[in-house]
Amino acid sequence: MDAKQEKFMQKLGKLRDSYSKELPGRIEGIRELIELLKKSPDDQSCLKELVRRIHCFSGSAVYFGYKQLNFVAREFELILNDWQEQAVTLGAPELDHLHHYFHRMVEASKRPLDKQQDTVIEPEPVSRQVLPQAAGGQKQIFLVQQDRADRCEWELQLTFYGFRVFSFENLHLLRRYEAENPTQASLLILDLDEILESPQDAELRQFVMQQNHQAPIVYVSSREDLQSRLEAVRLGGYGFLTKPLELNDLVDVVDKLVRSTEQEPFRVLLVEDDPRMAEHFGHVLQAAGFEVDAVTDPFQLLDRMGAGDPELILLDYHLPHCNGIELAKVVRQQPHYLSMPIVFLSTEENIERHYNALSAGADDFLTKPISPRTLVISLQARLLRTRALKSLMAHDSLTGLLNHVTLKEKLSINAARAHRGSKPLCFAMIDIDFFKSVNDNYGHSVGDRVLKSMSRVLKQRLRRSDVIGRYGGEEFGIILYDTPIDAAFDVIDEIRRNFSKVTHMADGVSFNVTFSGGVAAYSDFQAPGPMMEAADRALYLAKNEGRNRIIRATPSILASES
Ligand code: GH3
Ligand code: MG
Ligand code: MG
Repeated sequence: MDAKQEKFMQKLGKLRDSYSKELPGRIEGIRELIELLKKSPDDQSCLKELVRRIHCFSGSAVYFGYKQLNFVAREFELILNDWQEQAVTLGAPELDHLHHYFHRMVEASKRPLDKQQDTVIEPEPVSRQVLPQAAGGQKQIFLVQQDRADRCEWELQLTFYGFRVFSFENLHLLRRYEAENPTQASLLILDLDEILESPQDAELRQFVMQQNHQAPIVYVSSREDLQSRLEAVRLGGYGFLTKPLELNDLVDVVDKLVRSTEQEPFRVLLVEDDPRMAEHFGHVLQAAGFEVDAVTDPFQLLDRMGAGDPELILLDYHLPHCNGIELAKVVRQQPHYLSMPIVFLSTEENIERHYNALSAGADDFLTKPISPRTLVISLQARLLRTRALKSLMAHDSLTGLLNHVTLKEKLSINAARAHRGSKPLCFAMIDIDFFKSVNDNYGHSVGDRVLKSMSRVLKQRLRRSDVIGRYGGEEFGIILYDTPIDAAFDVIDEIRRNFSKVTHMADGVSFNVTFSGGVAAYSDFQAPGPMMEAADRALYLAKNEGRNRIIRATPSILASES
């Protein structure tokens, strides 16, 4: 068991201890309710409360080691449900029943804990491999290339895209460097020719395969025949590029590899009225890498949905004051949440109720008790599918950045978040300079490539918490969360300087492109709309003042004539 799992097991152990401590109090509560019913058998609200409390045991006791108690409570609950449905008046036989089950529950609550219960264990992580990152989130690339001019040029260009590059003339030097430095690369770009031409190729191959376990490899070669491509595949290559290298292609491959291995944690909102159960499921999902927010009062659901931006709602069926189906309908009433996945988690075995839940707009119905592994895998599968669909709808197909509509939505969400958490937030609007002339001089497809490289520079340099969107043709919008205006200005200005040094190629001709930008702070404008407008005005000031510069929006900028 590794340290993470051990910590998880400790958390579950603590939770069990708390549950055991609270158990006598809960059982006593049930005894009191039964006494009340004995005195006034017609008291429907008392019966209802008894059903609710018994239900809490039938859905949860097994998770805390009380398998028998769970079992008895379940039986008890079914009988009580029958009485309720048939409006049975409680007479002597019914009261006997109540006592009978109560005593069985008392006995079961004394039973030693069943430590053997199926608790964990973490499922496979979703991503293939999480790449190590250098401080500041920068990705490290190890580059091996015999040709000095190529090596220096590629290193320089990749640096402009925000990568940290360590370059070596040959694999021996890389090996020596690795032996002396514990640092690890996110990606390796290797010279295939060196391996194919070397007299000690067996040794090199072995070294390369070892590297392949740690990071993806892209091979560059001056040959293009099938034999060389095959060699690259056999040496674990994810990518194969031929010389002379089109830098765009290199960055494209690097970008894809780096992006495919990143996966943000899934955000789940759990609605569960029993706090101990909420904690239990919270731990289970967190151990699998999810971010979990738990709501125990269903009336808080809508507020928390707005606050946390969850990707899936895991909903208990039986809740106080309303049931899960009603709650699912309330969620679905709002167009904004029409596609929000809702998964029921309940002890409810009644298939009719499952159908009702599904027709109310639920996406799945999972029955408790459920093993942590089954729960995690079911949710993961659904979340992955939802993300894929959402991503298609929310992204611009050329650059892969968020589209206009989604960027605006994200701005509202982030502004509300910043407001609540008293965090600084900035918005930057940038626009490529004289882009029309890029299209006119080199053609539309070269223009498209410049847009892609712009988006790459942004993605590589900005943090994952920053939101980047393609606002329009050659305009981009960036939301910088938890970033004061000075820092926002500095980072956008640094991107400006780097981008201006990126070399673009068209039919053997190289050229550079610049952009201008405006940055506005949320604290100066207090609402997303005016903040965007202010960034836009600052951008146009930057254009008027000669382009290739960034300007901060002053609070008075909106008062001036546009
Ligand atoms: P300025 O420095 O003032 O921003 O000048 P500009 O030439 O960049 O601005 P203008 O608004 O005159 O031209 C923008 C150009 O961007 C015109 C349009 O054809 C081009 N464009 C918009 N979307 C795309 C696209 O997806 N691909 C390509 N290749 N060009 C595009
Ligand atoms: Mg422009
Ligand atoms: Mg424009």
